Amino acid sequence: MRDDFDELYEKIRKGGIEREDAIFLAGNPLYLFCIADELRRQEKGGVVTYVVNRNINFTNVCVGNCKFCAFGEEKEKGYLLSMDVVLSKVVEAVNNEATEICIQGGLHPDLALADYCGIIESIKSEFDVHIHAFSPMEIYHVARNSGMSEEEVLIGLKRAGLGSIPGTAAEILDDSIREIICPGKIKTDKWVEIIKTAHRLGVPSTATIMYGHIESLEARIDHIFRIREIQKETCGFTEFVPLKFMRRNNELGRMVKREVPFLENAMVHALSRVILHPYCENVQASWVKLGVGEVQKMLYFGVNDLGGTLMEENISRLSGAPAGEYMSPEDFERLIKDAGRTPKRRNTLYELL
Ligand code: SF4
Repeated sequence: MRDDFDELYEKIRKGGIEREDAIFLAGNPLYLFCIADELRRQEKGGVVTYVVNRNINFTNVCVGNCKFCAFGEEKEKGYLLSMDVVLSKVVEAVNNEATEICIQGGLHPDLALADYCGIIESIKSEFDVHIHAFSPMEIYHVARNSGMSEEEVLIGLKRAGLGSIPGTAAEILDDSIREIICPGKIKTDKWVEIIKTAHRLGVPSTATIMYGHIESLEARIDHIFRIREIQKETCGFTEFVPLKFMRRNNELGRMVKREVPFLENAMVHALSRVILHPYCENVQASWVKLGVGEVQKMLYFGVNDLGGTLMEENISRLSGAPAGEYMSPEDFERLIKDAGRTPKRRNTLYELL
C-alpha cells in the first residue's frame, strides 16, 4: 500500500489526477489529508492570505426561486439600496482600508445594464477600489432585462470599471440536481459559457461549490473536475471556494435534515486542493459558513486563504451562518498566527500587499 501511495502522490503532484483517484482518496481520508496538506505546503509554504473587503447586497428583490435562499423568505421586506446608501457603505469600507467592494443582489425585475453600470461608475468615480461584482446568474438576468447578449453585458460592465466577478450561482454543476434545488437558475452549460466569456474578456472570477444538501460525493468530485477543466483552458479563476449549505430559513433546509460534520467539510476542502492542483493554487475556506473555529482547522486540510473581512453578508446570515458580519484584519492575523502560519494581506487578484 505504501508503494501505491507514493505512486499516487507522484501522479497527483504532476497534475495527473483522474476521477477514480479522487474517489479512492475520498474513501481513504488519511491519504487525502496528507496529500492535500503537502501540496498546500509546496505551493504556498506557510502563508495564509486574506483580503480587506466589504459585501454590499444592494437588493433582496428577486424573481428567482432557489430553494436554498433565505431572501425568498423575506419577500415582504424587499429593498433596493439608493446610490447614497451604497456610497456611504463604500466610504465606511475604504475608511477600514478595504481594497475590494463585492456587490451582489437578487434578480430585480426592473433593473437593466445601465443601472448596474451606474452602481460601478458611481463608486469608481470617487474611490480607487476593485469592484468584484455580479454572478453569472446576475449577468444572465441583466442580459435578458436589457435585450442584450451576456458578452455585451460583460463588455459594458468592464467598461464601467468591473474588476472581476464572483463565481457564485455554480451551486452544483449538475443539471439533475439544479432542477431540484434551483429550478429557475441558469443550467450548467450557461454558467460555464458566461464564466469562459468573462475570462476571455479579461475579467477573472472566483469559482465555488455549494455542498452538503442532496448532492452525492461523485457530483462534488465531478463539479471540481469541471472547474479544473475550465481553469486549464482559461487560467481565469483566482480561487476556489467550497461553501457549506446553510439550512435555516429556506425550503431546501427543511428537506435536508443533517448538518455537515467536520470531517466532511475537511474532505471537500482537501479534495479541492488535490483535484485542482496545479491549475488553481488558491483554495479558500469561508469563515461565514464554517464559523471561526472550524475555518481555522481547514488550514490543515489544503486551505491557504480565508477570504475577506466582508462587513455584511446578508444571504448567509439569514440562512443561519454561525459567524458574525465582520472579521477584522486583526482577527484574521491572530487566527492565522495561532494556527502556526504566516498571515498576509492580499488584493482581489492575490497580489500581496
Ligand atoms: S440565490 Fe440569488 S437568484 Fe436564487 S432566489 Fe436567492 S437571490 Fe434570487
